[in-house]
Amino acid sequence: MTEWTGGCACGTVRYRLNSDPHDAGWCHCRTCQLNSGSPAMAFATVPFDDYEVMVGKDSVKRFASSDFGWRIFCGACGTPLGMHVRHQPDTIDFSVATLDQPQRLPPTFHIFYASRIPWAHACDDLPRHDRFRPDTRGLSGTEPPK
Ligand SMILES: [Zn+2]
Ligand SMILES: [Zn+2]
Repeated sequence: MTEWTGGCACGTVRYRLNSDPHDAGWCHCRTCQLNSGSPAMAFATVPFDDYEVMVGKDSVKRFASSDFGWRIFCGACGTPLGMHVRHQPDTIDFSVATLDQPQRLPPTFHIFYASRIPWAHACDDLPRHDRFRPDTRGLSGTEPPK
């Protein structure tokens, strides 16, 4: 496995993935828009213990972004690093753009496409889901906060 490393904009937080990430995809939910200041965020998943913060662990802050999850970010510069949700405690979704080589991990789907900003239309042929993907564990009835 070629090493996967990444970090925040100011360099305070540096992390390493200890296994190959999977399930890379775009999320167009309102929380991602507000959290990133951008129309959508690209996430991928690794086992929780395989997202290893090498440098700046004390600077990784979090806030409750919904009643079922948290966003983590660099407390020094604000870069959104990822999210962790209660119904999937064994995994973490990290921001693909924070990888040193994000080009290695192209997204393969869109979720929450129904809440996209209308001028941010995706120009690809990837599957689009209005909300979560149908096979997502434990999410029936949950929504990002209004
Ligand atoms: Zn930072
Ligand atoms: Zn989202």
